[in-house]
This record gives sequence, structure tokens and C-alpha cells, in this order.
Amino acid sequence: MAKLKMPVIGISADTNEGKEGDLKEYGSDTVFWLKKHYITAIEKSGGIPVILPVVESPKAMAGYLNLIDGLLLSGGYFDINPKLYGEKPMPQCGALKPARTLMEIALFKKARKLKMPLLGICGGLQAINVGLGGTLYQHIPAQVENALAHEQKPVPSTKPSHYVALAKNSEIRKIAGAPKTKVNSTHHQAIKDLGRGLIACAVAEDGIVEGVEFKKSTGGFMIGVQWHPEALFKNSTFSQKLFHRFVTEAKKYKAQTRT
Ligand code: MN
Repeated sequence: MAKLKMPVIGISADTNEGKEGDLKEYGSDTVFWLKKHYITAIEKSGGIPVILPVVESPKAMAGYLNLIDGLLLSGGYFDINPKLYGEKPMPQCGALKPARTLMEIALFKKARKLKMPLLGICGGLQAINVGLGGTLYQHIPAQVENALAHEQKPVPSTKPSHYVALAKNSEIRKIAGAPKTKVNSTHHQAIKDLGRGLIACAVAEDGIVEGVEFKKSTGGFMIGVQWHPEALFKNSTFSQKLFHRFVTEAKKYKAQTRT
């Protein structure tokens, strides 16, 4: 069989372990799932998407990283346990998915050491921030004065709703080729204090941090965004360029490490 040149992108799966009522029809066992937008965005960008269900052992996680060339931490219907950043849960705190969060933070840390290309989306960006010692707003409307409508319902997530300013000299600004871009918004939580070694590379008009990168290059590509570029992918050149760059970095990683 010819050697596979396309990079394999592992995407963390969502689960119903939060018991919030979704996928009830499957009964009592845990179910893993992922929206097709993620799959399409990776496939159309030249990568092979693979869904990573939640595993618990460090060996299995290390095994995942042996199989993949890029890690995409996805969003989903969950909140990160505030205890992980030293806070008590507020009443507005949503469903927690503890096993998912533990795996995502552990995978992120291992991938960072390996300098594997990383893309964090929505809850994925939040996991990266908490993994580096940062904190979150548990519920933006209760904690940020004059905040934008970051849950843009009824506007569908395939349409953008607010602008973010992109920081000078950031990777994301280079990718966008513009100082600002309009993004979708379906989050009630957001970064409060930045994790160690992170810079805010995208900021909404109300001051909410919507994008992060490493302050100093670790040698590995990493961008985290609070919005959902995969849902905008079809009609957004910027989203296409972001995924294309991520997959290209994964291709380079594969060439460097899988010889
Ligand atoms: Mn937003």
C-alpha cells in the first residue's frame, strides 16, 4: 500500500455524559458524537478526520497522539468544571462532562510537548486556557457589563454576528490578512484570565477574548478561537484559510515525525 501523505486530524468527540438530555434515545450508555461541519472542514482542507472518543488511560491518550498529525479540540454542549480553575460553580453553570474535559486537557498538554499542531474551537479554546492555569467567565451575561449577545440565537451558527479585532503580528491576523473579521457566537462562557504563556489574538468589541496563541513560539502551531469557523467554512474564505493552515501544519508535522 502506498504511504499515506494526507495528515490525520484527531477531533475530540462530544458525549452525553453531562446527562443534559441530548441523545436520550440511546438509553443509559454513553454516546460519542460530532457535528459534520468539523469533518467537512478537515476533509475539504486536505486532512483525514478521525473522531476521538473519550478515553481515560494515559496510555490510550498517548496512543491517539501516535496515530494523528494534528489535534482539534472541538466545542460542544458542556461547561468546564469551575473547580478546575479554583471557583465554585455558579447557578448558571451548564452540564459538565468531566471525563471529556480531563482527556482534552491531558491531550493538549501532551500534544504541546510534541509540538503537534493544535486548533481549539469554543470549548476547545476554553480547555486550553484552563489547562494553562487560566480562568473562565462562568456566564458572560451575569459577569460582564454591556456584553454583546454571545449566544446569537436565533441567528444560525452558519452566519456571523459580531466582529473581533485581530492582534498585530499574530498568526491569525496573517491568516485573515485583515485587522478584523466577523464571527459567529454560540457561547455563554469565555476566557476571564489568560493561561500562562498565552496572548489574546482576537478580541470582541466588548473586550471578550475570542482567540489565543502562544506568546513565544514553542515550535508548534496553536490557535484557539471562541467562535465556530467550521460552521462558517462553506461561505467564509477566512475560515477556509484557517483550516487550510492548520492542516498544512499537520502535514509538515507528519513529514518531520513519521519517517
Ligand atoms: Mn462571541
